[in-house]
This record gives sequence, structure tokens and C-alpha cells, in this order.
Amino acid sequence: MLSDYTIANQDSGTTELAQGRLDSLITISGAKLPRRPLLWDVSISNGKIASIDPHHFNRPDVVHKPGTLEANGRLLAPSLCHAHIHLDKCFLLQDSKFSDLEIVKGDFQEAMTLTTKAKARFEKSDLFRRGRQVVVESINYGVTSMRAFVEVDGDVMFKCLDVGLQLKKEFAERCEIQICAFAQLPLYSGEDDGDLIRKLMEEAASRDGVDVLGSTPYVEDSEFKEKENVRWISNLALSRSKFLDLHLDYHLDITKKPLTGYVFDLLRRSNWKEYEGKAITLGHCTRLTHLKPEEWRRLKQEIGELPVSFVGLPTSDLFMMRTKEGYRGTLHVPDMIYKYGFQAAIAINNVGNAFTPQGNCDPLSVASLCVGLYCTGTKSNTELLYDCVSSRAKQVVGLPSSSLDLKVGEPADFVLFEKAFSKLRTRKSIAEVVYDPIPGRITIRNGKVTNG
Ligand SMILES: [Zn+2]
Repeated sequence: MLSDYTIANQDSGTTELAQGRLDSLITISGAKLPRRPLLWDVSISNGKIASIDPHHFNRPDVVHKPGTLEANGRLLAPSLCHAHIHLDKCFLLQDSKFSDLEIVKGDFQEAMTLTTKAKARFEKSDLFRRGRQVVVESINYGVTSMRAFVEVDGDVMFKCLDVGLQLKKEFAERCEIQICAFAQLPLYSGEDDGDLIRKLMEEAASRDGVDVLGSTPYVEDSEFKEKENVRWISNLALSRSKFLDLHLDYHLDITKKPLTGYVFDLLRRSNWKEYEGKAITLGHCTRLTHLKPEEWRRLKQEIGELPVSFVGLPTSDLFMMRTKEGYRGTLHVPDMIYKYGFQAAIAINNVGNAFTPQGNCDPLSVASLCVGLYCTGTKSNTELLYDCVSSRAKQVVGLPSSSLDLKVGEPADFVLFEKAFSKLRTRKSIAEVVYDPIPGRITIRNGKVTNG
């Protein structure tokens, strides 16, 4: 029988977690599974679910054998995924090195200014300290994969990318870290019209371990340059066979046309599918919250066969996006999926910085927020929200996923929720963990316990 796990703590624990031995599981015995009554034994072979059988109490061939994790009636569900998280600018508000950079106004411009000041001081030592903390905390919350954004520009050069690639290697057995080389700064505006950053991004695209290329067209100083930004980064992603991930239409200005129509037209004209272009992900897209139903339907038609999905980032959007009139906006992800048939997920985006000071590394904390945000509290709604930080999140970033029905042959990537102090409060269903996520969790990836 495996010993109970311990949560790696603070700075010392972060390194230990990456280096410790992983326990391989053969069976998870007596687990509560989503959408099924009674208890079940899940056997694992080659990192996949080999069988799911009804649990018999004290079955001699299973209980207390090496490689058996006794679930004791706890809920076992598919593991979690960050479809969108920034690895380099996390925990700036917690790190004493940046303690003078306090939020005074709490608006977008200030967040850009504070982050630019922080970036000027980035060193590999603090990038490792803060980045490791995000990965370790995420693993302890049940995360087995993430798309991690690291910035590339003339200020940080390749510091963030180097650290991201190193963390990807360091945690390879415990968490799939997809690295997105990301241009947060303009590719065509500014002093040198973006010459340097484009050169650096081209070099970044050639580095081993870079999976995704991303940019933020809305930071350009004209609509023409925004389009040039999209055109250039999508051509680079296509030519290097990378995923494309854009921070798009991150504003609420109804007088400004969304860029989505241009993006889809461009991707179609570049024969994205025929050239086997990888999946395209669009983050934020708060401008789309003004769309009318017929405009949503038209948008879906414009996408057609293109492999496009959306990621809603509600914690950041709620903090950053407001108009003078008090309008707030974040993508209504359940409506996009249910009403219009888009593929979409929900993610954390930032942790502990001026773009998103509130929240932590638990994807379920965002799913939980969304119950109230979208008024989605039914059992099936909570299962959709869970999917948006689990299976759908993995699909959006192009990784294999399992379903809430947990089927034989699916990846043995799970999170086992801890027992509460009382039977009443022990989480028995997906709805209960979404309503009130419990922190203690055992994380399993490829059939191995990753936070043991
Ligand atoms: Zn982001």
C-alpha cells in the first residue's frame, strides 16, 4: 500500500518534488467515480486505464498489494490542465524582490507598467523560484499538463524561455509543460518597429522544446499593425509547424471591430489545414461579449473547418476589463459550447501579479467562480465547468484527454480528492468539487503518483 502523500512546501519542497521517485500504480482500489454509483477498482497498464471493475471489499488479490492505492471511497476524476498560464510573471506580488511594485490603480495600463518594470529585473534565479512554485502548486492541485507562456523580447531576451525550457525538462515525468514563446510586446510598433522582437521570436521558434508561438496583436498602435502582427506570427507558426496561441481582442470597445474575422480569413487563405497547421487557440477575446446571437452563429461559420478554440480567462478579465459605464466582460464559455458549438476551455492566466492579483494555481478555483459568474449550478453544468479545466482544456492545447466517464484505454491521468473530516463533507461528485474545491489531492499521471 502506498503511503499517504505530503504536499511539498515552499522553496525546499519545490526542488524535492521534481527529483523524487515516482510510485507506479497497478490498481486504484475502492474509488468513487464520476457518473457511477457504488465503488470501483481501476487497474492501470502502460499508463492507460486497463479495466474498471466493481469493488469488492477485502478482495484478497487487490488489497494491500504493492502498487495498490486504496481510495477508500474517495472521488477519482480526470486530472486537471492549465490551458493558459504565464510561467515567468507569476508571484511577482509575493516575491520580496519585487515588493516595491505595488498595485495603486489596478488598471490595465498600470499592470503593463509594473510588469515592464519587473521584467527589467528578471534574473534566472527568481524566474526559477517563481516558476517552480507555480508548477509544484499546480501538480499538488491535480494538474498533469499546462500550456506555459514565456515572454521573448529585447528586455528579457531568452531568460524566460531558457528557464521555461529547463522547467519543462525538470518536471517532464510529472507534468507536460508545453512552452509557448510569447511576444507580449508589439511586433510592429515601438522604437525599432519591432525588428528586434521579430528576430528574437524567429530564433525562439527554432529552439528545441518550443511547442507554441503566441503574440498580443492588441498592443500594436494601429489596426494595420495589429493585422500585420497576426499575419507574421501565424506565418511563423505555420512554417515551423507550431501551435498558434493569440491573446486577441482584449478590450470592450464596441466601436472597434473584433479581429477574429480577419484572423479566420487569413488562416483560410494561408491554407492552414492543407499545410497541416496545428491547432489555433484564442485567449481573452472580451470584445466578443458584445456579439449578438446571429453574430456568434456567423463567427462559427467563419471558423468552418479551421482547428480553432477559445480560452476564457475570467479571473483576469473580471479584474482588468471594465468600461467607464461599468460594463464588465468575459467570454461566456458554457454558452459558446452549448448554444453555438465552439470548442472552449477556461484557465487561470496569471497568478500573483498586477494583471490578476487574486486567486491561486488551482484550476478548480476558476471553475468554482464560474458557477456564480455564468449562473451554471446544475449537475450537468458543473460537469461542463470541470471539463473546461480538465478534458476540454487538454483538447484545446492539443493533448490526449480522458472523459468524465473514464473509459478503458484512456490515459491514467487522475486526481484523487482527499476525504473531508466528516462523511457529509467528503466530496462524492464532480458537482461537489466544483461547488467547493477541497485542496488535499493525490495527482496521478501515466499511472504514477506525481506528488507523493
Ligand atoms: Zn495570458
